Amino acid sequence: MKLHMQILIALGLGIKRNWHIFSGIILGILTGIFLHAHPYPTVMALLTFVGQMFIRLIQMVVIPLVVSAIIIGITSIGDNRQLGKFGTKMVFYYGIITVIAVTIGAVLSLVFKPGLGAAEYITANAASEVQTTVASAMAEQQGNILNIFLGFLPSNPMHSFAQGDMVPIIVFVLIFAIALARVGDVNRPIVSFFESVFAATMKITDWIMYFAAPGVFALTASAVSSFGIDIFQSISKYLLVLFIGFMLQLCVVYPLFLRFFSKVNVGILYSAIAEAMMVAFGTASSSATLPLTIACCEKRGISHKISSFVLPLGATLNMDGTALLQTVAVIFLAQAYGVVLTPFLIIEIALLAIIASSTCAGIPGAGLITIALILNGMGLSPEQLIAGFAFLFTIERITDMMRTLVNVTSDAVVAATIADNENEINYDLLNNPQAYEDIA
Ligand code: ASP
Repeated sequence: MKLHMQILIALGLGIKRNWHIFSGIILGILTGIFLHAHPYPTVMALLTFVGQMFIRLIQMVVIPLVVSAIIIGITSIGDNRQLGKFGTKMVFYYGIITVIAVTIGAVLSLVFKPGLGAAEYITANAASEVQTTVASAMAEQQGNILNIFLGFLPSNPMHSFAQGDMVPIIVFVLIFAIALARVGDVNRPIVSFFESVFAATMKITDWIMYFAAPGVFALTASAVSSFGIDIFQSISKYLLVLFIGFMLQLCVVYPLFLRFFSKVNVGILYSAIAEAMMVAFGTASSSATLPLTIACCEKRGISHKISSFVLPLGATLNMDGTALLQTVAVIFLAQAYGVVLTPFLIIEIALLAIIASSTCAGIPGAGLITIALILNGMGLSPEQLIAGFAFLFTIERITDMMRTLVNVTSDAVVAATIADNENEINYDLLNNPQAYEDIA
């Protein structure tokens, strides 16, 4: 069957199984458009309340889930050589996908030139209320790249846990889990403890998902109500470039990647993770979607060993959608303000986007903060930087929803590929149409 047909059928099946979440998205978009034209403060406040409640509920399980998943995953891999092999493969696959993403972003921006003639529009529409956020984001990213990497090493892991800083948390848990794996049987009490924590957090995730449709509806409605649809006319070229880029990743790059590196059928995989894709779109957070991404992958046959290792790391470090956006956004501003885009500068932007995206947490808006890392070295005047950055904030949410969907999908694509390569996938479960019914 032709690839695009497989994807269409997969989407159809995924939507059919998750029609309630899908309806939440569609109704949310319609309600948001209506509310943008007729803002009712009480309704808006209610939507924000429901949306935030949903996000908080899933965020509540993220840290216990990530910690327990990584500890169980790594101790079950056990053998150092196998762990090294999985780790190397993971970095290699995530790397390929991200390099392709920034290449697509750069090529599309250079071909369509979305930023040409946009300078005045940017200055006029730079949201003044975010200027302080912008200034602090710039200052935060001003330190050199080495300092940013230094920040990944938690001097006090408890502080990172309290702050919810995912990258240092993951670094600590990885080191701790590798040590546990090396100490032999004495690790049993702790591993059993975390097996119970994992099982309980997955159960809570199942419960929270009953709330997914209203949650995604409320989040989508409040996001759309903040920008309306006029935005699509005003900066249509910029959004179009992003949209084409994300669609290329989803409909061309991942299918080819799966075909090249594994036997996994893209349609079946997309259908299996459709629920996670929709929640990623609604929440704009890879971390918040993580419990669901793990649930979808494991219920459809990807072993716990792989999903509990590859998915939490992916949700924090693999941000190809974000890297694509950052490349397009920076080139857009450079074109708007007449910066000469030499091949060297374009390569620099792409490389910095790979670093900036992987240093950002899987939470809403994080990718826009780390974009400062790239913008700081672009030779723009301070006024242009502030206006350009503040402008990106005005259209942040919609692009965040799209790029998070891409980020989450690629995490699952890489997990499925590694599981296939390592014989850690149960194809009976993955290919069995009956199993569609089993995903709650
Ligand atoms: N919201 C994105 C994610 O969670 C990160 C970002 O690009 O802001 O994957």
